[in-house]
Amino acid sequence: MPIMDPMSTRGPTLGSFVAVLVALAVFASCASWQTAARTEQWTLYAERALTSEETRQYVQSIEPARAAVADALGPFESRVSLYVWEDGDAGPVARSSSAQLNEGGTGAVQEVPGIGPARVRAFHARTKTFFGPSSGIYLGAPETGTAAHELVHARIAEENLNLPLWLEEGLANVLGDGYQEGERWVVDGLSCWPLRELTEARITDAEFVRLLALSAEDSSDVRENVLAHFVGWAIVFDLYRESGKLDWRAWVERYGRGIDPSEARMRMQRTLTPAALESWLERLKDAQPAVRVATAKGLWKLRSLIAVEALLDAIEREKDPLARVAFAINLLASAGEMRLPENLQRRMWRQAWPTLRRAELDDPREQKAIEELFATFRWGSRSNPRAPLEALRRFWAE
Ligand SMILES: [Zn+2]
Repeated sequence: MPIMDPMSTRGPTLGSFVAVLVALAVFASCASWQTAARTEQWTLYAERALTSEETRQYVQSIEPARAAVADALGPFESRVSLYVWEDGDAGPVARSSSAQLNEGGTGAVQEVPGIGPARVRAFHARTKTFFGPSSGIYLGAPETGTAAHELVHARIAEENLNLPLWLEEGLANVLGDGYQEGERWVVDGLSCWPLRELTEARITDAEFVRLLALSAEDSSDVRENVLAHFVGWAIVFDLYRESGKLDWRAWVERYGRGIDPSEARMRMQRTLTPAALESWLERLKDAQPAVRVATAKGLWKLRSLIAVEALLDAIEREKDPLARVAFAINLLASAGEMRLPENLQRRMWRQAWPTLRRAELDDPREQKAIEELFATFRWGSRSNPRAPLEALRRFWAE
C-alpha cells in the first residue's frame, strides 16, 4: 500500500489525512470497481463506466508500456491490475514511495519544499494489510510514460525484490521516459526535470546518505521522496550509459543492498556534466526518427543552451516531417522557458514557422491543434498556446 506517516508534522493536514484513510478503507472493501478493459496481460478497472474514447486512450497507453517493460525487465508472471484513479487527493499518496510525480500542472498538486509544485500522476500499491487499496497500479491519466513507470514497480513487486528506493525509482524513471510511436514505446531515459533540478540542488552529504538508504518500504517526507526519485534516476542513467543497455539484473545484484555513497555521488555528478548531455544529444542523429523524437522530447525543461543549439542543428538537417514538428515544438517551449540570444531566436523562427505552417499530422485533432498553435504566434494574435499545446502533449510532455 502507499507508504504513509501519520505522525509527520509536514505535508497534508490531519483532516485531509483522515479523509484519505477513509477513502483507502473504502478502496479495500469497494465492490464498485468495474472491468473497463481486459487483455491476457492486464485488466483495467474503473469506478464508473468509461466512454469508449476513454477506454481506447487507456488501452493505447497501457499496452505499449507493458510491452516495453516486459521487454526490458522480463515478461510479467501474472496479469497486472490497473485502476483508473480519479480520487485526486494528492497529499498522502504523494508520500507513497512509489508515487510518480510530475512537475507543476493542474490537478492534485503538492508543494515540494525547495523544488516547487509537483503533481501526483499515478502510484503503485503493494498491498500488505487488509486496510489498503488492492495491489496494483492507480493511473490518474492515460499516459504511456506514466504507465511504464508504474509497471516497473509492478514487475519488481512480482520478483519480490525489496530494493533501495533510488534503484527502483531510477529504473522506473528511465523506462518511463520516451516517445510513443504508434503501438511502440520508444525508451529514451534522459529525464529532464530531475536533470535540471539536481543541477541546481544542494544536497548535503548527510542528506545524500539518507536518501540512498531509503527503501521503497520506508516513509519519507515529500522532499526526500522526490529527491530519491531524482538521485535514483541520475545514478541509473549513468549505469545505463556505461553499460549501453538496461542491465538491471546485474545492478540489482551489485546494488540491491546498497551503494557506496562516494560511488553514488560520482555517478550522479557524471550524469550532470554538460559532456553527458552532449553525448546523449548525439541521438538526435539516430537513424530512427522515433529515437530522434524521443531524445528531443522534454529538452525544453533543461533551460540549456546546449540543448537548444542541438535542437536547432537537428531541425536544420531534419527531413522527417513528424520529427520536424517535434523539434519545433520543443524549441518553442524552450524559448518560453528562457531568454534565447538573438541569433538563436532568429534561427528558431526561421525553422519553426514553416514547420508549423506546413505540418500535416494524421490525427485530425493534432492537426487542428498545430494550426491553432501557428495562429497564436501570428503578429497581434491574442490567443493562448496552452490549449493547442495540450493536444500536442506527446511531442513535448515528460
Ligand atoms: Zn515510482
